[in-house]
Amino acid sequence: MATFVCSGCGGQFVGLAFNIGGEKYCEDCYNKKIREIENQSKEFEDLLQYLSEIFGILQIPEHVCSQYKKLVQSGQYTYGGIKGTLYYIYDVCGYYRAIEYSAIRVKDFYSEAKKYFDEIDKIAEENKNFIDSLEVCTVKMRPPENTKRKPKYNIEDL
Ligand SMILES: [Zn+2]
Repeated sequence: MATFVCSGCGGQFVGLAFNIGGEKYCEDCYNKKIREIENQSKEFEDLLQYLSEIFGILQIPEHVCSQYKKLVQSGQYTYGGIKGTLYYIYDVCGYYRAIEYSAIRVKDFYSEAKKYFDEIDKIAEENKNFIDSLEVCTVKMRPPENTKRKPKYNIEDL
């Protein structure tokens, strides 16, 4: 029986390998990899959708698609991160919308956008803590001793 080394986990396996793009995988890693690829293509579709929205065009030019694919393939960018960066560039900073230069812009602004979102997360977290500390000050109300007793005030007086 042939053995192979899995490109995913590095383990040695006996039998037939599962192939993806010339790489050999064990069954577990193969399934994981397939899910990853499916997720990525879904994220890519999401990104294309988003690009259509922000640039107001139906079809994203092929060379622009491949610019974005290359960014992700470099391992330094994710589709989600790219989407956030595009939002930062055009909606937060208000830069002129030109799809031709958008992938280059993403490269330039990626870490700045990340900082921006980290800051927002931090503020959101602080606000959450603030609200939590407010909840400590809840007003305690004693239930009326006699529920049938009429209140001492008239509703009109309030
Ligand atoms: Zn494996």
